[in-house]
Amino acid sequence: MKFGGTSVGMTTGLTQVLSIVLYERERWDRLLIVVSALEGVTDALLEAAHLAQLANRRGYRRIVATLRTRHLKLIEYLPLGVNERAALQADIDRLLFDMLDTCQLLADQAGQHTEPEAIDAVIGVGERLAARIVASLLRQNGLRGVAIDATDLIITDMVYGNATPNIPITRERIAANLLPMLDRNILPIITGFIGSTATGKPTTLGRGGSDYTASVLATCTDADEVWIWTDVDGMMSADPRDIPSAQVIPSLSYTETAELAYFGARILHSRMIAPLHELHIPVRVRNIFKPQGAGTLISDNNESAHLLKAVTMAQSLGMFAPRSGSPHSVIALVDEVLFKLAGSRAEVVITAQSSWQSFLCFVIPTSAGHGALHSLEIALEELTYSDETLNLWTIRPVSVLTIIGSRLDDMHSAIASIFAALDGIRILALSQGPSRCSFSLVVETADGDEALNRVHGVIRAD
Ligand code: ADP
Ligand code: ASP
Ligand code: MG
Repeated sequence: MKFGGTSVGMTTGLTQVLSIVLYERERWDRLLIVVSALEGVTDALLEAAHLAQLANRRGYRRIVATLRTRHLKLIEYLPLGVNERAALQADIDRLLFDMLDTCQLLADQAGQHTEPEAIDAVIGVGERLAARIVASLLRQNGLRGVAIDATDLIITDMVYGNATPNIPITRERIAANLLPMLDRNILPIITGFIGSTATGKPTTLGRGGSDYTASVLATCTDADEVWIWTDVDGMMSADPRDIPSAQVIPSLSYTETAELAYFGARILHSRMIAPLHELHIPVRVRNIFKPQGAGTLISDNNESAHLLKAVTMAQSLGMFAPRSGSPHSVIALVDEVLFKLAGSRAEVVITAQSSWQSFLCFVIPTSAGHGALHSLEIALEELTYSDETLNLWTIRPVSVLTIIGSRLDDMHSAIASIFAALDGIRILALSQGPSRCSFSLVVETADGDEALNRVHGVIRAD
């Protein structure tokens, strides 16, 4: 079971975590818990790391002080015994103190080359704090909860900020260090999001990476199921923050879910589905505040009367050139720059060409973080400006809308109703997904919200 930042960020959420774990502990004899940092904490830690790189000592100290107050305030309201509370406070102080040290190191090196693992060491502290808080709460209530740092378990490549676990090595580590705990009836509370390289340097799995941690742990322990507890009722027909009338989707296939996550639905990390699909491990997405609700079941079985299921809108970068020709060199450049900036590969979703014009569109995965699109745009503008062969290209953000559904490649009437609904909105390019279950179209960012609303109206009517 993985509990997200919204679940562990407030006393009400933590109370729900406690009652869910107490209840499920009776039903499952071997349970692993994964937790994220409290909501907003990873953003604050990223800011602290950036300020440290700029040698803004007051700035990062202020953030650390705020984080300390926030965590201490949270535990103040938890029903903990005197000893448990004192030990937890000491843990929080020690973790934040070590993290302040790392920030100081970054500040001392300002302007020089920084070790990328130092940033990951700073931004992974949120999960370590949260795991300790949840473990204390469970211990206080009679469970044998132990906080575990996944750095000893999840062994990744060296793509700092967006690392990918090495499954065979991770499986060995888990067999040696985690499974024996389950045999001793311990309930491990494992940090999401973080890992380490084979040489022990800290890494993180990309934004939203705690889902990926849960997926990797499930894969390496041959789990029966993965449950993602979050703040919405399940996977929905659109992001309910954008479309309040969005509805829960009772069941989805692995492919449909992977497409949803890949094309911008931040509810799940885009790389988490593939390992679970391979082993056919079902995933349930459920609302922590409504644990009696069924949520969404993601599995091989995908019986649904509806053809159209969901729509997402992804942050994307469009590149336009007033000429035709091979786009390979531009794609290679974007790939290199995006990988340097955010550890993500540039996956071209849509290319469109005519006799005198070229258009390329890159979807930026949510794991690359909020700022990735903007940094990519600035970096590419600088590079193309000074290069004779590239300065023909104009660059601007665009919106990619992706419709997820069954058999979209032969159910043309469904696609026709979407086109009819988009009447009057300019479509820059189109792409039929090779997965059979997705269809994407690119619109100007200014038209994104209107297009999303109209497409969702068609999905609701299906
Ligand atoms: P957590 O802290 O639990 O990991 P996240 O914020 O990462 O939570 O993900 C949950 C959020 O994902 C929801 O609050 C919702 O706004 C957003 N979201 C985006 N797309 C969807 C979708 N299709 N269905 C449900 N939620 C979505
Ligand atoms: N705390 C991390 C983030 O904010 C990981 C996660 O929430 O899954 O990206
Ligand atoms: Mg998340």
